[in-house]
Amino acid sequence: MRDRRPQNRQNSLSRRLGAIRSWVAAFMLALGVALAFYSYFDHGQVERNAGERLAVLASVMASNIQSQLGAIERQLDVLRELHQSQRQQAAGGGMTVRDVMLGWCRSDPACMDLLVVDRQGVIVDWTGTGEPPLVADREYVAHHLQQHDQTVYLGIPQLSRVHHGRWFFAMSIAERDADGNVVRIYVAIRDLLYSFDYAEIVNRTPASSFAVVSVAGEVYVREPDRAIHMGRVIPRVDQVLPAGEGESRTVRLRSRLDDRERLIVAQRLERYPLYVAATREIDHVMAHWRHRGAVLAVLWVLLAGIAAHVGSRLAEDVRLQDYLASIDGLTGILNRRALMTEARRQEERRQDAGGLGLMMIDVDHFKRINDRYGHVVGDQVLRQVAATLRMSGRGSDVLGRYGGEEFLLLLPGADEQRLATVGEKLRAAIEAIPALEFPDSDTYPESLTISIGAAVLRPGQGNLDAAIAQADQALYRAKNAGRNRVVVARNGNGA
Ligand code: GH3
Ligand code: MG
Ligand code: MG
Repeated sequence: MRDRRPQNRQNSLSRRLGAIRSWVAAFMLALGVALAFYSYFDHGQVERNAGERLAVLASVMASNIQSQLGAIERQLDVLRELHQSQRQQAAGGGMTVRDVMLGWCRSDPACMDLLVVDRQGVIVDWTGTGEPPLVADREYVAHHLQQHDQTVYLGIPQLSRVHHGRWFFAMSIAERDADGNVVRIYVAIRDLLYSFDYAEIVNRTPASSFAVVSVAGEVYVREPDRAIHMGRVIPRVDQVLPAGEGESRTVRLRSRLDDRERLIVAQRLERYPLYVAATREIDHVMAHWRHRGAVLAVLWVLLAGIAAHVGSRLAEDVRLQDYLASIDGLTGILNRRALMTEARRQEERRQDAGGLGLMMIDVDHFKRINDRYGHVVGDQVLRQVAATLRMSGRGSDVLGRYGGEEFLLLLPGADEQRLATVGEKLRAAIEAIPALEFPDSDTYPESLTISIGAAVLRPGQGNLDAAIAQADQALYRAKNAGRNRVVVARNGNGA
């Protein structure tokens, strides 16, 4: 026999369980969406912060390089003044300009040569030894002869012809007569291997690089691996360099060489046509963000697990509550409220089931049992009767406790014939319960019996209350006829 709970209870149960599941899912979804949004904005913030840090670095390097170049320019100015005054004093004793130049170069590893050149491109004084080369074809000579203003000349990276295999850049200023004609050119030849040394900063920042480049992308210096990069030309440099003097530009670019994406900040020097570029690999910039994302994802999964657990515990509680609310505490079968709800449902369905059989079952002389053996034994008897009735019924039958020692059995589709058969079976089953099954069996020798009144509620005829009343009357007749028997009401008159 089914321990079925009434349908509308099940409806409200599944509604409550559905609500719990929906709340858990909505909570986790909302949390997931919130975390995803946070992560998205965090991504942008991390990248912006990295760009800002890189921009600060580039700007510090740019102003540092600017002052280094300014120092060289001033050195050339001093050289010009020294040279002028030496010419005026004519060659006297003491320190020559060459001695001064040699002194400067010895204390400066980036100083490759210092030259004093006349307008024909002939070196008149220099830090080198032996016969000086003719430099008439050098760019710095051409620059000052063609440009009539007093601008400083800054050359692009070049491979030295004098110092074999070494990269340099030239910086020069011109001395002019009253008519503006070039009299002398003062040139600093700077060794690129020792210029603009920021290796330590770059080494301390993982996956970063730093470069000094010309407008055309010619590399003066690039860390790390300075030796390989000197004199190379950076491709796509126009995508990276800012337009105006002193300006800076931040871009994200994927390298065609190593296919890594980098954040690049390029800063234009204010006084010289040079750019400082600082880069960092995006992967490294985003490492913390990814780490945070993984931690959040794990937290979410943990929370989802906890929420699912709490949800299932809640659902279990609801199921238990629902079960307890529909069950008779003593016998474990449906209580009267749940039983009647189920009976009303069966009443509505009797059309499909082909009628509904009802059995009112009452324990005979139960008061006597209570009086003789006490209520504890009485309760045991009720439990035993309920268990026996339940085991003897069919899967589709519904058994409930109607009142004190009265049970109502609903048998969908049963006719009078079947009610008589099943009733008899149940009656016999109770009668057959051995006294041994009661713990106090030595004081409980009586045989236990039930009386059954049954009625059929036919499709389209009568109603539940009337059918129950008929079953009740049949029960009354069974009692009057001597108890321990089954009476089935026939054709509504119980005959
Ligand atoms: P009959 O054969 O005519 O049915 O006689 P009866 O004694 O069984 O009928 P009656 O209605 O006079 O007595 C029913 C008794 O059942 C009265 C009441 O004390 C007892 N009873 C009702 N509910 C419980 C219960 O939960 N536990 C116990 N132990 N007794 C109960
Ligand atoms: Mg009774
Ligand atoms: Mg009774």
